[in-house]
Amino acid sequence: MAVNVVESKEWYLAGYAAEGVPTTDHLTLRSVPLSLSLDSIPDAYVAVQLLFISVDPYLRTRMSGQEDGLYFPQFSLNQVITAFGVGRVMRSKDEKYSEGDIVLNAFFPVAEYCVVPSSVLIRKIDPEAGIPLPEYLSCLGVPGFAAWVGIEVLGEAKPGSNAFISAAAGGVGMVAGQLAKLKGCRVIGSTGSDAKVRLVKEEFGYDDAFNYNKEVDFDATLSKYFPNGIDIYLENVGGKMLEAVLNHVNPHARIPVCGMISQYNQIWTEREGVRNLLNIVGKEVRMEGFLVGSYLDRFADFTVEMEGYLKQGKISSKIKIYEGIQNFAESLGSLFSSSNFGKVVIEVNKPR
Ligand code: NAP
Repeated sequence: MAVNVVESKEWYLAGYAAEGVPTTDHLTLRSVPLSLSLDSIPDAYVAVQLLFISVDPYLRTRMSGQEDGLYFPQFSLNQVITAFGVGRVMRSKDEKYSEGDIVLNAFFPVAEYCVVPSSVLIRKIDPEAGIPLPEYLSCLGVPGFAAWVGIEVLGEAKPGSNAFISAAAGGVGMVAGQLAKLKGCRVIGSTGSDAKVRLVKEEFGYDDAFNYNKEVDFDATLSKYFPNGIDIYLENVGGKMLEAVLNHVNPHARIPVCGMISQYNQIWTEREGVRNLLNIVGKEVRMEGFLVGSYLDRFADFTVEMEGYLKQGKISSKIKIYEGIQNFAESLGSLFSSSNFGKVVIEVNKPR
């Protein structure tokens, strides 16, 4: 018999964390009853069982209580928080969706089950495509698209370009390095542990990489790895690394600014300054911040290219899966250490 009421665990924000990594003092798990009976679901809504949730650095910036930097709206206190996810339709009051459809939504509640308007669903996933579901949150999702915009659109990667990618073993970095290699660049990465240095070289094909936690002088490090200067820097971390890069850029270098994760846990007056911005003028560098949401008109081009690479085995990916929604706060905190590699997702419910 069909289940009509479920107890659904969900994460909500109990308090803002202006600084530091949010903990369970700020993020709280509660259990709420949710009616799934067709009578209780409004027209043009669907009931969804969450399968996978993407754990992304930008979520932290929605928990500070201050809109700055990435300028995403703050989560409301005591409201369930949202994240990119994959779910399975359980009940539908929209003829476009049927029970069993696998659907994507950029703003699913971080919950085990939900009832949402069908208009928020991005699309259905074709189960015949043979692509593992977490990959839609990784290479084929926001991190993969961010890497593609950074390297191919704004970075204008070309054969022979010297490309540098920070947070090289993360969701964005692992794809960015491989895309730059496919475009014929010489690619160097920075990451936070020796194991991740090995991973990016052996699994993701980086020409070389270094562990920034072991380097005392980034300027000297970049002199060693870039004797001919840097043409493309995909900026993921900010702070001292950006400052060092600006001493090594070639004329007309491109710096697509994807993010600055090293600064997300500080209020802006405490963030690191960059003293040599003047180099941007003298070297006529194009440094440009971007948000993937502004490139949605290119998403179809990206998808065709990335699906092709995945099917041909030209891009490989690593996904760190936390099992169970109870691990959300811990998995979010892990993004601000070097403990994880690849794309971080939560398996909320097992796909059938
Ligand atoms: P991710 O997979 O969650 O990886 C985060 C990694 O950042 C961590 O594993 C850690 O790896 C590194 N990190 C954490 N704290 C650091 C610090 N203080 N200094 C240096 N590295 C640090 O992240 P992602 O999804 O790849 O995202 C990478 C960047 O892209 C973030 O800044 C994110 O906000 C941004 N992003 C932007 C867009 C956009 O539309 N603009 C879209 C997606 C992501 P290590 O071991 O290397 O330290």
